[in-house]
Amino acid sequence: MAFEGLTERLQNAIGKLRRKGKISESDVKEVMREIRLALLEADVNFGVVKDFVKTVRTRAVGSEVLESLTPAQQIVKIVNEELVKVMGQESVPLNKSPKIPTVIMMVGLQGAGKTTTASKLALKLKNEKHARPLMIAADVYRPAAIDQLKTLGQENDLPVFDMGTDVSPVKIVEEGLKVAQENKNDYVFIDTAGRLQIDEKLMQELTDIQKLATPDEVLLTVDSMTGQNATEVAEGFNEQLNITGVILTKLDGDTRGGAALSIRAVTGKPIKFIGQGEKMDDLDVFYPDRMASRILG
Ligand code: GDP
Repeated sequence: MAFEGLTERLQNAIGKLRRKGKISESDVKEVMREIRLALLEADVNFGVVKDFVKTVRTRAVGSEVLESLTPAQQIVKIVNEELVKVMGQESVPLNKSPKIPTVIMMVGLQGAGKTTTASKLALKLKNEKHARPLMIAADVYRPAAIDQLKTLGQENDLPVFDMGTDVSPVKIVEEGLKVAQENKNDYVFIDTAGRLQIDEKLMQELTDIQKLATPDEVLLTVDSMTGQNATEVAEGFNEQLNITGVILTKLDGDTRGGAALSIRAVTGKPIKFIGQGEKMDDLDVFYPDRMASRILG
């Protein structure tokens, strides 16, 4: 289960205070030491942990807690509030262009869930907003990726534009956008190529597509199971492409929590959606407060 270790450790750390009436500064110090270790073990970015612990500690040694008759509850409240803050406070909706189509460029490393997520999101818009999305298959390096998108398109009644693998991705996007104009599609999803890791060639190609398509959203899909690496990947993509948001996938697995807690603080970009399974409806809006409650258990 996601966050299992983190939840247990946070609960244990704070739980020790429940046996005490009033607590002292040294009790706060001890609990903060344990919270720090719990976060580091959950793969939360070091800098994020440092700032988080400092903020919580400062608040926790304030009079509201030390003089409280329910100090443990007060600490839970502070930790909860700061978790929500670190994850961005509010959910952030998808950008929308004043003119159709809204163009959403999907980027991410291979296997992160980009193609699946593009389809999930297109279907969500179709079902919830009666949108008419078009998906553009621009991953020419893996024929299987185009087939996968086409299959998902067929299964969910979502049109897919493709030109096979012999045409440059920029050209495919250019033609796909024309088709979207002609058909008055209100959303366009560009499924771009991934790689096993960030490299210059990939970034150049993505930059070229971005220049041509001037997307309203550059959504980075990252796999939450990859922990620290997910945060580094987000940092790398953000530096190169100035992403507009993140989709964190595989939160149905036993992810430790680091990516969910680090990405917003490290990149300044919001997590907009979370993937919680392989099925098409396993995509949810990301709510920092709900995630904090889930982490605290
Ligand atoms: P891409 O290479 O980034 O386009 O990744 P894919 O969309 O092909 O996804 C890789 C694998 O991850 C597929 O087997 C997906 O079904 C799976 N996947 C994607 N999102 C999720 C998720 O939220 N939870 C789980 N359990 N699997 C997911």
